[in-house]
Amino acid sequence: MAHSKSTVAGTALGPTGRPVVEFPVPAPLQSHGPARIISLCNQKGGVGKTTTSINLAAALAQYGRRVLAVDFDPQGALSAGLGVASHDVPTIYDLLLGSVKDPREVIQTTAINDLHVIPANIDLSAAEVHLINEVAREQILAGVLRKVSNDYDVILIDCQPSLGLLTVNALTASHGVVIPLACEFFALRGVALLIETIEKVRDRLNPVITMDGIIATMYDARTLHSREVLERVVEVFGDQVLETVIGRTVKFPDASVAAQPITTFAPEHAAAQAYLQLARELVARGSVA
Ligand code: ADP
Ligand code: MG
Repeated sequence: MAHSKSTVAGTALGPTGRPVVEFPVPAPLQSHGPARIISLCNQKGGVGKTTTSINLAAALAQYGRRVLAVDFDPQGALSAGLGVASHDVPTIYDLLLGSVKDPREVIQTTAINDLHVIPANIDLSAAEVHLINEVAREQILAGVLRKVSNDYDVILIDCQPSLGLLTVNALTASHGVVIPLACEFFALRGVALLIETIEKVRDRLNPVITMDGIIATMYDARTLHSREVLERVVEVFGDQVLETVIGRTVKFPDASVAAQPITTFAPEHAAAQAYLQLARELVARGSVA
């Protein structure tokens, strides 16, 4: 099994084939903000962007970080997964179009302390058409988030599965990008185009943006296929692949039905522990304060 390989010296190797590292529990923060903004981005659907946004947000909040999760997909799955109303309430769409100026009028609290949400609904699907003729149309989300950046330690943007204007807005607003990749057929298809898009945004719009890492999701250590895909991903992307690997489990769909992050729905489950580890790893790598 990939996760129990060991070297001659007896060092345990993790699923990425590298020695297992323990990431320390982050020290409490003495002061809060300004936020580091991270987009969860992959133009492929169903790779774990929303699941990672929800559970990483909850895990970071559990470690005392003030977290704002931005639902940036008209499907509204992040809002639903955190039990936040997204119908008949002001959403990110109103902020982008300027019909609501103050993000605080849109931000909702969740059942989790220090985890807030800007919801989205199907209205957002019309946003690109409205923004296309705006001045500095790629920088509109950045302008919105700047207004509340000092209230948070981290802002996570759950992108929609496209590389259109909304995603370019997310990348332009971000300090970092985390790319979720599912350990399945065609996992790597499209990643080159995604990286090219990030590089264009860095050249033309947002020189600070960095790749924070690739997070392998839906990994099933029992299948050769899953292990082979992960091996290939590590071969191609090396150190950009985070140590933390998220296993495949039905607990995730179950937690979505319960409108809770897995960290409160099944806190002892390996999958909850994996997202807590991801939070610790990103703090250890300096992606989050
Ligand atoms: P995306 O936002 O990239 O479209 P989602 O996070 O919505 O992807 O995940 C797609 C589907 O897969 C959802 O039904 C979700 O519950 C499920 N899922 C996500 N991560 C896992 C996992 N590690 N194991 C099993 N199912 C998962
Ligand atoms: Mg999604």
